[in-house]
Amino acid sequence: MLETKKQGLLIVISGPSGAGKGTICAELLKRNKNLWKSVSMTTRKPRKGEVDGVDYFFVSKKEFKENIKENGLLEHATYADEFYGTPRSYVLEHLNKGEDVILEIEIQGALQIKDVYPQGLFIFILPPSMKTLKKRLENRGTETKEKVLKRFKRAYQEINEVTKYNYVVTNDTVENATNKVEAILMAEKCRVDRIEEVYLDTVEEELHESLVDNKELNNEVKDF
Ligand code: 5GP
Repeated sequence: MLETKKQGLLIVISGPSGAGKGTICAELLKRNKNLWKSVSMTTRKPRKGEVDGVDYFFVSKKEFKENIKENGLLEHATYADEFYGTPRSYVLEHLNKGEDVILEIEIQGALQIKDVYPQGLFIFILPPSMKTLKKRLENRGTETKEKVLKRFKRAYQEINEVTKYNYVVTNDTVENATNKVEAILMAEKCRVDRIEEVYLDTVEEELHESLVDNKELNNEVKDF
């Protein structure tokens, strides 16, 4: 039996704000019940409809800094004057159980993760165009004009980092983009370096047994 590695896959979905990472992740989670999404910690105020502990852990700047000090975050970054970070224990717990975890984070944080955990899977979500991105940010209606502009400017810088990722997916439609991400995940699971050594041991054992049982094959292998 072919077994994949015991350690789960860390999937980092990243890209500029407004590219549609959140929608793609939500669709992925809907389609795959065996994926776990990390809930980030942030100092930004909840938007209408956002729930503490579900969308984010909303904390004060003081609490956030304490978490950094106690090494409670796997990565953290400042974005539009607010702090964002990934709680360490949740991610490690699931990975160690062999479960796959998704992080939906901005670029600085993703690159911090890549430094310490290069075996993760790094996927960059691009908007179909910068015009569409600007429209999406404006239409969300969750930020002031000034903040939208800040996010948009930052998106321009962030797009330059795309080459540091393993894969890039353009979010033309949620359906297409999610299909592509799913295909990437499937391919990643089939990579030889993700196959458990157990499998190779089993093959060796089976070969040994066949050699003992079968003289002819035994000689052929020896000749080879
Ligand atoms: P928003 O305020 O729109 O929810 O998030 C702003 C940006 O921060 C988005 O690009 C989002 O993906 C990113 N973000 C959310 N959580 C985290 C996190 O834990 N770490 C980092 N580095 N970025 C995050």
